[in-house]
Amino acid sequence: MRIKKGDLVEVSVGRDAARSEGHRARGRVLSVDEASNRVTIEGVNLVYKHVRPSRKNPRGGRLHIERPVHLSNVMPVCPKCDEGARVGYRVNDDGSKERVCRACGTGLGQVRSAGK
Ligand SMILES: [Zn+2]
Repeated sequence: MRIKKGDLVEVSVGRDAARSEGHRARGRVLSVDEASNRVTIEGVNLVYKHVRPSRKNPRGGRLHIERPVHLSNVMPVCPKCDEGARVGYRVNDDGSKERVCRACGTGLGQVRSAGK
């Protein structure tokens, strides 16, 4: 999985991409669904969900929730380039494996820890 929970990511298509003139939507990954290859990103792809009154929410009404977006539309943000990065991988001498920005080589977080 090239996206992990907690990553700062950029979303490149859909309604959110068009918002605010060329700037793509950014947010933190809240959850990753490996089965469907979808990720939920804080503040991105928000929809209103209408809910019936329940014990938890006695008045019912509208909830503002994030809908998952497909992994292919999501890129991790490279802190150096300050934009969505194409992801490569690098295996270090200690056996750890990390994601790197293909444009500048900056590490984007480990995907496997050392010693394996
Ligand atoms: Zn970069």
